[in-house]
Amino acid sequence: MSDIFNNELFEAFASASDNVFIYVCDMKSDISRWSKAAVDYFGLAGEYLENAANIWGQHVHPDDLKVYTEDIQGVFSGAKKYHDCQYRARNASGRYVWVECKGSVIRDEEGNPIIFAGLMTRIDGQSKYDSLTGLLTTQELHYFDFASQFGIALLIGMDGFRKIISNYGYNIGDEILIKFSREISDLCKPGWKVLRFSGDEFLVLAFSSNLQEVTDFYREICQQTDIMKLEGGRKVGISISAGGVLFPQDADVREVLINKLEHSLEYAKNNQRGSMVFFSEEIAKRHERGLILREDLKQCIKNDFKGFELFFQPFIDPNTGTIAGCESLLRWKGERIKDSYPMEFIKVLEDYGDIHEVGFWVMEQAIKQQVEWRDTYGELQFSFNVSYQQFLDDTFEEKVISCAKKYGVNPNYIIIELTESCQVEAPRELAVMFNNLRKQGFKIALDDFGTAYASMEMLKWLPVDYIKVEHSFIRELAQPGHDVDYVIVDSLLNMCRRLGYNSIIEGVENGKVADIVGELNATLLQGYHYSHPICREDFEKLLDEDRKRL
Ligand code: C2E
Ligand code: MG
Ligand code: MG
Repeated sequence: MSDIFNNELFEAFASASDNVFIYVCDMKSDISRWSKAAVDYFGLAGEYLENAANIWGQHVHPDDLKVYTEDIQGVFSGAKKYHDCQYRARNASGRYVWVECKGSVIRDEEGNPIIFAGLMTRIDGQSKYDSLTGLLTTQELHYFDFASQFGIALLIGMDGFRKIISNYGYNIGDEILIKFSREISDLCKPGWKVLRFSGDEFLVLAFSSNLQEVTDFYREICQQTDIMKLEGGRKVGISISAGGVLFPQDADVREVLINKLEHSLEYAKNNQRGSMVFFSEEIAKRHERGLILREDLKQCIKNDFKGFELFFQPFIDPNTGTIAGCESLLRWKGERIKDSYPMEFIKVLEDYGDIHEVGFWVMEQAIKQQVEWRDTYGELQFSFNVSYQQFLDDTFEEKVISCAKKYGVNPNYIIIELTESCQVEAPRELAVMFNNLRKQGFKIALDDFGTAYASMEMLKWLPVDYIKVEHSFIRELAQPGHDVDYVIVDSLLNMCRRLGYNSIIEGVENGKVADIVGELNATLLQGYHYSHPICREDFEKLLDEDRKRL
C-alpha cells in the first residue's frame, strides 16, 4: 500500500477537526484513505476505500451530482487544476448536509495523475461544540442510537428570552446563556449529556429511567437560575419551561425524538409556563390541530379570504356615553376547525408569515367599512390591529396610504394598533414609519400597554397618538384589594395626559368598573360592559340604537 496513507501527517490532519474531513487517493491503485471523522459522519465502510469516486457518488445528492461529476472529471482529465465545488452529501443518518470539497491532483514527471488529495468542509454551520457555551451541539445526536439506550431527553427553553435581549442587549443575553449552560452542566448526574439545541434551548440526555430524579433535576435548575446574578452585580429574573420525552418508548430515532421534544416544549410554553411537560397523546393532538389550522388558513387565504370576517367592538366616549368608533377584530372559521380564537389562529398566521397577506385584507376591510358607515353614522374612529412583523414589511407604509386613497377615507379617523410592542427590535426604524404615517393623518396606538417589560422604553422612541391600557389592570379594578391596579391605571393616564397622548381603556367588563374608570378621564372606553365584539349587521343595529339615543 502506498506510504502516502501511512504517514503521521495524515493522522495529524485527520484528527485536527471534526468539521473538516480529509482524503487522499492513490490514483494508480484507486485506493483512498479517509479521515476517521469522515467515516463516522458519512457512514463509510471504512477508512480505506477502493473506487471511492463511485462510492462517494452515491452519497452526493442527485440534484448536485452533475455539478460534482463535471468538476471532478475536469480535474482528472487535466482540464482543471483544482477540484472545488459545493454540494449536498448524505451523512450516516441519511440527512443531506452541505459540504465544500476542495482538492488537487499531483502528477508524475510524465504528467500522469498519481495522487488526489483534499479537504471536505461541512458548511451547514454546525460544529461539534457550540462556540458560545462550549457545550456539544446537536451534531452529537447524529452518532447516537436512541433505540439501544434507556433514558429521558429534556428540552429546556427560556421563557421570553427575546424580551431579555430587547431589555438588556445581546451581551447580557450571551452572559445569561453561558451561566445557564454551566448551571445545567453542574447539576447533571455523571454520564448525562447537555447540548446547546438552538438559541435559548438546551437539550439534556438523562440516562435515567427514574422520573423523580429527572423532575428533581429540573426543579433544581429552576431554583438555581431563578434569579441570575451577572457580572457587575446585575440580577435578572429567569423563567424556564421544558419538554420531556422517554427513549426508546416514545422515540427510538433522532428525528422523532426531536419532533416530540419540540412539541412538548411548545406545549409547556403555551399552556404550562415554568413547568416540565412530558410528551403525551394530548400534545400530539394539539400539534395535529396546529397543522390542520395551518392548512385550513392557507386554503382560506387562497380562496379569496373566505372564512375570515371582521367583528367590531365599540369605543365609547366617556363624556357622552355614545359610540365614537370601534376596534376591528379578526374572526375566522375553517372547513375543519370552527372554534379557533384569534390568539390561536393569529399566532399561526404570524408563525408562517401569512399575517402580511391577511393583515392587508383586514386593513382594507376596515377602511372600506369606515367609509361605508360614514355616510349614515358620521365619522367613526376606526382601529385595526397590526402585528410587529407587518411593520417590518417595506411596503407596509405605502400600502396603507394607497388603500386609504383608494377608498377615500380620512386618515384622521384611522387608528393603527401595534399589538406586540414588546417585540420591537428596531424602534428607530419604526419611529420613522410611524412619523410618515402620522404626517398623512393616521393615528398610531400602542396596544396592551403596560404588560410588556419594554412598554415605557417604547414611549421614548415611538411617536404615537393613543395608548391602550391593558385589560389585566382594568378587569379587577372593582374588586376589593385592587387599589394597586387603580394607582397604576391612574398614573398611566396622568402620564398620557402630560405627554399629550390619547388613551383607551380596554376590558371594561361591568358597570362597577365602568363607574371607576369613568372618573379617570380616559379618551375612550372599550369592553364587554358596552358590547362584545359583534358582526357587521349587529354593529349597525348598535349604531342605530346609539344614534337614536342621541
Ligand atoms: P386586542 O387587540 O387587545 O383586542 C382586544 C381583545 O380583548 C379582543 O379579543 C376582545 O374581544 C377582548 N375584549 C374586549 N373587551 C373585553 C373585556 O371587557 N374583557 C375581556 N376579558 N376581554 C375583552 P380577541 O378579539 O379575541 O382578540 C385577541 C387579540 O388578537 C387582539 O387583542 C389582537 O392582539 C389580536 N387580533 C385580533 N384581530 C387582529 C388582526 O386583525 N390582526 C392582528 N395582527 N391581531 C389581531
Ligand atoms: Mg387591539
Ligand atoms: Mg388590546
